[in-house]
Amino acid sequence: MKLSCEVIRDLLPLYYDKVCSKESSLLIEEHLADCNQCLDELEKLKTCLEKPTISEENIQVMKNISTKWKKDKMIAFSKGSMFVSALAAIICFVAYNVIGSEVLPDGTLVEPFALIPIVYIFILMFIISLICYFIFLKKHKINNK
Ligand SMILES: [Zn+2]
Repeated sequence: MKLSCEVIRDLLPLYYDKVCSKESSLLIEEHLADCNQCLDELEKLKTCLEKPTISEENIQVMKNISTKWKKDKMIAFSKGSMFVSALAAIICFVAYNVIGSEVLPDGTLVEPFALIPIVYIFILMFIISLICYFIFLKKHKINNK
């Protein structure tokens, strides 16, 4: 019995999974012995099923997501650090004014001096975070275009 290539190709997945009858298997093997096209078809089936290949497109999409996520994280981080340093600077500034300065009876001026450089450090931190934030945001926008 001679089967057409079309019938054989329909049966190939079954043959590959070894779920078709012995008779069918024999017929398929017989056909494959002298039909290279169907043999190629079987090879294709094997490579498709054995190696679930991730397409280039999928890889690119995943890469884009990961870089986008990283950038979002950087933006969120600089935003957070901007907020924290601004808050800390304000707290120190307020604390400095609340504590205030007083002149002791012997004439020495008592001030919470330590707070001044701390305020400057936080202001500096705030400026750096602000710059970083805008740099990340700009890069982000460029990449999204
Ligand atoms: Zn064939």
